[in-house]
Parts: sequence; structure tokens; C-alpha cells
Amino acid sequence: MLTIALTGGIGSGKSTVAAQLERLGAGVIDADHISHALTRDDADTLATIAATFGGEMIAADGTLDRAAMRARVFSDPEARQRLESILHPRIEARMCAERAALRTPYAVLVIPLLFETGQQRLADRVLVVDLPESAQIERVRARSGLADDEIARIIAAQIPRARRCARADDLIDNSGEPQDLAEQVRRLHQHYLRLTAGKTD
Ligand code: ATP
Repeated sequence: MLTIALTGGIGSGKSTVAAQLERLGAGVIDADHISHALTRDDADTLATIAATFGGEMIAADGTLDRAAMRARVFSDPEARQRLESILHPRIEARMCAERAALRTPYAVLVIPLLFETGQQRLADRVLVVDLPESAQIERVRARSGLADDEIARIIAAQIPRARRCARADDLIDNSGEPQDLAEQVRRLHQHYLRLTAGKTD
């Protein structure tokens, strides 16, 4: 099935674009949602995290204690890497299983840290949602109330904008008005339908 990996920096508009593509008929699978589901109720994931980081990472209700986990990996890159090496293969396996069950013309995998995780190999094409950093900071601030230095820290930890855009097969410029975004999404959906028509597997 034609598979599009959708990525972009924090607050770039990934979820907005994914929701619009889904309304148009695409099958959408979100890596963040899967990550949350795994750390909420997947026994194997939770047991592996507990064995690696200690039982205190699991809350009384049996789900991941997100605050404890965040504190554990916050200033420890090695611990963060161990957590990611637990999560990423499981997220990937579940994305592939969910994709196999789709009955839509094509699939969109929403993967915020696409290049950082090397998961672009799961897709035929990469779609990047782009906007200038100043607008990105403004939208994240409006939505989350995070402080500017905290937002800047998150942006700095992600792949630089120019490198992300250079790796895009398709690019959405989300610096404009919502209706401008919707028009670009409609055009891309038509483009993907045409590509699907030419794809046999
Ligand atoms: P995150 O990386 O944090 O998950 P995201 O990339 O999924 O974010 P969205 O949640 O889709 O981004 O959008 C970020 C915010 O910007 C939202 O509040 C959304 O409503 C708003 N937004 C998206 N596109 C536009 C636009 N063209 N004009 C104004 N606001 C927009």
C-alpha cells in the first residue's frame, strides 16, 4: 500500500494535516498515539520498562508513570536511548500491523521524529509540514503555554528545519491561513490518489 510518512517540527501542523487527510479518505496511523497506547496497556512494553528502569516507573494503575519516566531520562541521554530502544521497535511493529489492516487507498504514518528514528524506510514518500521557527514558537506558545526557552529547547533537539525540508518528497507550507493549508492538503490527497492508481502492491 502506498505509504506516506508525515513529519514536521513541534507545532508545525502535523495533527491538523493528518486529520484533514483522514477526512478525505486516507488511513492515518499516529506514532505518538501508539506510543501512549503501548505505555498504557501493553504488558510486554510495561514489563520491559520495569525490568530496565525499576518497578517505580509503573504507576499504581499499572500504566507508565510518565512524570517518573520523564524525570529519569530528562538529563540522562543514555537512559533516554535505552527507553527509545524499547519503544521504537514496538511502535514500528504496531504501525505496520495497523497499516496491514487498513482498507483505505493509501496510508499516512504520522511520525514526529521521523529522521531521528530512521523510520522513513517504512514509507514510499516523506511529507513535511513546514513553517518558519518564529511562527512555530508562536503557535506552540498559544496552544500549550510553554515558555519560549522551553519551546526553543525542544526545537533545538529536533532535526534542523533545512535538513528536514531537504529530505521531503512533498512539502506543505503551513505559514499561511487555515484555508490555504486545507487547499494544499486537498491537492496532495489528489496527488496521492493518482500515485496509488499507478502502484500495484
Ligand atoms: P505537535 O508537534 O505538538 O504534536 P503538530 O505538528 O501536530 O504539533 P498541530 O497540533 O496540528 O501541530 O498544530 C499546532 C497548533 O497550530 C494547533 O493549535 C493548530 O490548531 C494550529 N494551527 C495549525 N495550522 C494553522 C494555521 N495554518 N494557522 C493557524 N493556526 C494553525
